Amino acid sequence: MLNVPPQAFPAPGSQQRVSAGGRAKVPLKPGRSLMDWIRLTKSGKDLTGLKGRLIEVTEDELAKHNKKEDCWICIRGFVYNVTPYMEYHPGGEDELMKAAGTDGTDLFDQVHRWVNYESMLKECLVGRMAVKPIAAPKGMVPEKKGLGASVKDLTPSYDWFQTENSITVVIYTKQKDMNAELVIVDCQDKRLRGEIIVGDHSYLVEVDLDHAVQEDVAVNIAEKVGKVEIILKKKDNVHWKMLGQPLESHNTFIKRTDRGLFYRKCKLVSKTEVTHDTKLFRLMLPKSTHLHVPTGQHVYLKKNIAGTEVVKPYTPVLPFLPLDFKEPFSHDGAHIYLMIKIYSCGLFTQALDHLQIGDYISVSNPEGNFKKSQVQTLEDLFLLAAGTGFTPMVKLLNFALTEVSCLRTVKLIFFNKTEDDILWRNQLEQLALKDERFEVQFILSQPTKDWVGKQGKISSSLLSEFVKISRKDSKVLICICGPTPFTEQGVQYLKDLGYSQEEIHAFTA
Ligand code: FAD
Ligand code: NAD
Repeated sequence: MLNVPPQAFPAPGSQQRVSAGGRAKVPLKPGRSLMDWIRLTKSGKDLTGLKGRLIEVTEDELAKHNKKEDCWICIRGFVYNVTPYMEYHPGGEDELMKAAGTDGTDLFDQVHRWVNYESMLKECLVGRMAVKPIAAPKGMVPEKKGLGASVKDLTPSYDWFQTENSITVVIYTKQKDMNAELVIVDCQDKRLRGEIIVGDHSYLVEVDLDHAVQEDVAVNIAEKVGKVEIILKKKDNVHWKMLGQPLESHNTFIKRTDRGLFYRKCKLVSKTEVTHDTKLFRLMLPKSTHLHVPTGQHVYLKKNIAGTEVVKPYTPVLPFLPLDFKEPFSHDGAHIYLMIKIYSCGLFTQALDHLQIGDYISVSNPEGNFKKSQVQTLEDLFLLAAGTGFTPMVKLLNFALTEVSCLRTVKLIFFNKTEDDILWRNQLEQLALKDERFEVQFILSQPTKDWVGKQGKISSSLLSEFVKISRKDSKVLICICGPTPFTEQGVQYLKDLGYSQEEIHAFTA
């Protein structure tokens, strides 16, 4: 399976390099890290064997290049010679060979559609497919499969009108329960992009506006009737003849996973220490962006490192743990908070750590398969977190304690190496004192001799000791997040203890 990095994380030798979501990860040889690959691509070496020429590739020609020592793969109509890349692929050569001599688009999308292969493999580009590629380019075809015969009825539509100084784009979503998390709007350089999430589908309005507009954009959502208004302020009070030129994916309604990731540049406004190696990054969204990252979802950060675009996922948190759960924590919507551990030899986190206040970084639309509905009727919630695997638990904890009326207990079992590694320890302890539904248990794998609390790593006995439902027929969910082996072992132990698949949610990429 084509699993091009940036996921060179964890790096060679790391204990995490075992498997991810059932996919085998193989140890890379020394000198085969992502950084080594970037260096090779910059060396001027002819990586395609075509001396810089780009060719048109027929399906027959593609099929001939199906061996390790001569391996071409097509992704979204472009053909790459991946032979030089084989030893650098975190998923191993065999995974890459599954797509040898064929169109690997679907395999690639199944694994890491967010990986920026165009940048990563640009020196391996052989050329374009001469005939129509097997898989159509993303976002181009309004794909209506999976919605059944009623698709026409479900497809949102849009309209627009103007006053002397404003333009209003109205989207009729045909969804009753619209909310701010389902509407993503960006307006940059006269380009308006409004995306509406409808289940696992996405509707897009994307136009090159007829005239310039001011920076701030307002979004009104009529939740009950599913009407979304995007209000733009005209820069000049002229009459617009049309909204603008439709862009490639304008007015399409397709599967979310078929929509390319969209990025906007966010400004770093503060960076504060959480522990000795973890920082809270506060990023400011552009005024023209409307984006609320849902509970349990992550975003991708993108940064150019040594000429290559590297992308890594991070899970937004809250600025702090709210202690008063009478009302939902009101988020200003203008900032994204990321709690990020800086690894001394980490490619991306070192680059992040070097960002100065005022610098910009690209942030994607949210992704993730967690649904709030999994929590809405819960009685017992258990959160098993290891290290920065705590990040998805922050919003989840807040949501559960604030909005789940039948909730009896929330228990966080937090695994760390040492006391100094525990994130927001004070806040968690305060919360446990304040709210009797909440309990926290710290478990250290490398404690000092002064530690009187629990020690060890995730195990069946630790889980049977701490994961105990409050009543016999309690509705329970156990969420788990941390290094891949931690998550995989945890899921297995929980299943062995009799918990069903529906009662377990593992956060993965
Ligand atoms: P790499 O260059 O890939 O290498 C990591 C280096 O750091 C290695 O050399 C190793 O020495 C060291 N290292 C890495 N992991 C470990 C480890 N567990 N123990 C010891 N040493 C290690 N990270 C966050 O900090 N906050 C988040 O909110 C967050 N959210 C994520 C959400 C998802 C869905 C996923 C899949 C991952 C998330 N991560 C998060 C991890 C993040 O995406 C990166 O993998 C991480 O920041 C490391 O990137 P890097 O390029 O610096 O490290
Ligand atoms: P860490 O190395 O500091 O380890 C924290 C604890 O995890 C350890 O004390 C131990 O109890 C446990 N652990 C570590 N390795 C283990 C192993 N091989 N087997 C069993 N238990 C193990 O952790 P970290 O550096 O903070 O890493 C956090 C991890 O969480 C990263 O891999 C990151 O990618 C992942 N993460 C995932 C998401 C997501 O949504 N999928 C979000 C945030 C973080």
